[in-house]
Amino acid sequence: MRILLVEDEQHAAQMLAKGLRDQTYAVDVAADGEAALYQAGMNDYDLIILDVMLPLKDGFTVCRELRAAASAVPVLMLTARDAVQDRITGLDTGADDYLVKPFDFHELLARVRALLRRGPVLQPVQLKVADLTLETRSRLVRRGGKPIDLTAKEYALLEYLIRRADEVVTRADIAEHVWDETFDPFSNLIEVYIQRLRRKVDEGYARKLIRTLRGEGYRLTAGEEDELA
Ligand code: CA
Repeated sequence: MRILLVEDEQHAAQMLAKGLRDQTYAVDVAADGEAALYQAGMNDYDLIILDVMLPLKDGFTVCRELRAAASAVPVLMLTARDAVQDRITGLDTGADDYLVKPFDFHELLARVRALLRRGPVLQPVQLKVADLTLETRSRLVRRGGKPIDLTAKEYALLEYLIRRADEVVTRADIAEHVWDETFDPFSNLIEVYIQRLRRKVDEGYARKLIRTLRGEGYRLTAGEEDELA
């Protein structure tokens, strides 16, 4: 899942971005309201964490302009003071939730998870395809009840595939939602990670869940066999 973090205080932004990356999220950072709108227009973010007090355009304006442009991306607003009027304004401009600074990082993570579950349809805490299960809170992955040990990036890729189970997922989709803006589109990183996931998730099982659709992308499914790579 890819997050745009909009925060002008550099130290706070770095700490937050690092914490979120440790939790397997791909994170881009914008330091002012104009940059935030530009980046939100360029990339399909799964969530925006938006500080209210920002240079050039404040968080309220950014949120209002996003919604005016028909963006439905979930927005978690960070307000500096616990003023009722700030919260009302935030929600009225189209924010989905807010947190008052200073906040506890674990509360931020819980709200991020809750907002990501909403998406176009409410996603459960446990995601499941056949005998493969993924707990989004603990990030525990199991196949047939047996735990699978994944790195942060492997987990992020598997979570994205399982959220879009049965759909064809292109390389571009993966690059956009699992990696951040530093991703090199000419690298073979995605293929490498898919191979690693296959080894951990499918090896030794008769039913292969991760399929390659030549020239199209990948599909995670318990359904009938596709064209196999
Ligand atoms: Ca600020």
